[in-house]
Amino acid sequence: MSCLFCKIASGEIPAKLLFENERVIAFEDINPQAPTHILLIPKTHFANVGELAVGESDTLSEIFLTADKLASQLGLAGYRTIFNSGAEAGQTVFHAHLHLLGGRAFTWPPG
Ligand code: 5GP
Ligand code: ZN
Repeated sequence: MSCLFCKIASGEIPAKLLFENERVIAFEDINPQAPTHILLIPKTHFANVGELAVGESDTLSEIFLTADKLASQLGLAGYRTIFNSGAEAGQTVFHAHLHLLGGRAFTWPPG
């Protein structure tokens, strides 16, 4: 499997892990866009959040619950969660991943 995030999930490529269980892994983004920038992924390969929702809806829910718990553990006053879906929306890695961003004020609308 040539997918970058599958390789991180399997341990073939190293990452700074913050959480792991049988279904989900959370690790620091290599190019952080905020003081806290964590990626949460299913260990199973799905190309985007829509495919994850169809294939493993419980894991999708668990990813959001894990993000909320990590935000609490890190003492974030607030956080933003984003699934970029499709190249036009900014998706560059086609293994579904939730961005968890915090530690600074955010603006709306997003860029
Ligand atoms: P996307 O643009 O697909 O929504 O997000 C992909 C994210 O993966 C980007 O924020 C990028 O910085 C991150 N990323 C890309 N390659 C690596 C890597 O090898 N390791 C880690 N930890 N993050 C990566
Ligand atoms: Zn993958």
